[in-house]
Amino acid sequence: MSQDHQRICLIHYHEIGLKGHNRARFEMRLLKNVESLLVGYPVVTIHRISGRLCVFLKEGTDLDTAVRASEVILRVPGVARVSCGFKCIRDLEVMGQVAIEALAEAGDFSSFKVQARRNHTDFETTSMDMNRIIGAVLCERFPEKQVKMKAPDVQVGVEVVQNAVYVYARSVRGVGGLPVGSSGKVVTLLSSGIDSPVATWRIARRGAICIAVHFSGRPQASDASEYLVDDIARVLERSGCIARTYIVPFGDHQREISLKVPPALRIIMYRRLMFRVAQEIARREGAGALVTGESLGQVASQTLANIRCTDAVVDLPVFRPLIGSDKQEIIADAEALGTFDISSQDVSDCCTLFMPRNPETQGDLAVVEEAESALPIEQWVCSIADSAEVHDYACPSYKRPRGSIAADQQGQ
Ligand code: ATP
Ligand code: MG
Repeated sequence: MSQDHQRICLIHYHEIGLKGHNRARFEMRLLKNVESLLVGYPVVTIHRISGRLCVFLKEGTDLDTAVRASEVILRVPGVARVSCGFKCIRDLEVMGQVAIEALAEAGDFSSFKVQARRNHTDFETTSMDMNRIIGAVLCERFPEKQVKMKAPDVQVGVEVVQNAVYVYARSVRGVGGLPVGSSGKVVTLLSSGIDSPVATWRIARRGAICIAVHFSGRPQASDASEYLVDDIARVLERSGCIARTYIVPFGDHQREISLKVPPALRIIMYRRLMFRVAQEIARREGAGALVTGESLGQVASQTLANIRCTDAVVDLPVFRPLIGSDKQEIIADAEALGTFDISSQDVSDCCTLFMPRNPETQGDLAVVEEAESALPIEQWVCSIADSAEVHDYACPSYKRPRGSIAADQQGQ
């Protein structure tokens, strides 16, 4: 039977539907993002059909492949739900047979119900009647299963849209949010720690294209953190969330800072320089905000006073999606995202370099500015940004800034 009916993955979305006249643009963005992540899967085409996207799979595609494709899709921001099933003709008898096949593939369950809907009333059978008729066919074929109207284990979707019918029983929740590329571009400060990959993911899930900046301890420390950041970027790339990383060798500047400013102020100084460099990269990329993985009070640099000292050096808004999150919540998110194991590896990045024994937790802006005046900070910012290595990742909505060439053409 699966040879007769085309396999499909139906993509449901919620929020896009609320976006009024932007809706078509958002749907197209989501379609392009999904399409690029499904390269390598047997996809014939992807179409918009009545408030859904439908991925049509090639003839002969097996269940396992369809399920793997749906697992790729459910991680894509903007996807609220993915349903795996079949397309068939508008014939009640055929619909019943296909519903049997779909339910047979639904795995373990003890109760079900049919949820039919029709896009146009030109299909003469009402949704209620379809529920009844297809429900009866399924009851006959699966007599040991129970029909349950409230919270059934499996819901058999039967959607009559224009000249076709889409039938499915496997349906899984997606990550939700908005398609990457629908909310502009941000620069995210990405360490190899647990928090910043989660913060990056959260902002990407709201539709922002993420450009990461990583400050490496090189040449004063090893480049190990750079490899972890690449691994993290590859995880984010699976959802089309990240377009580029800028890897900035930062060790020499930290050393300079550590020699010239009082030890207690070092961390604030490092962070003010990081923010300035990130803002310079944002300017070059045309990004509209910075993002960090800070969470209030988690470490010395994340107090209100110190956050004020770092924010004072940039004009761009700084988003901190984790500011009110507890570590355990962040860890749970990192596990779900797939970055936790990478971030748990103990390597030194610039954070561990030239750290003072007693960092200031209540930085005073005037004192910090005075101490900083001993350093040629403004001159450093552009040269540090220039020294960054750029790595590109697959992000279909990303457009390189004018004059910037692809990383693989830079001889790296
Ligand atoms: P994380 O787990 O994300 O490293 P953290 O708890 O270690 O965070 P900090 O080291 O104070 O906290 O860093 C706070 C934020 O500053 C990070 O979430 C990240 O956004 C940014 N940051 C810190 N170190 C770096 C770095 N080496 N490169 C880029 N950004 C960094
Ligand atoms: Mg850190």
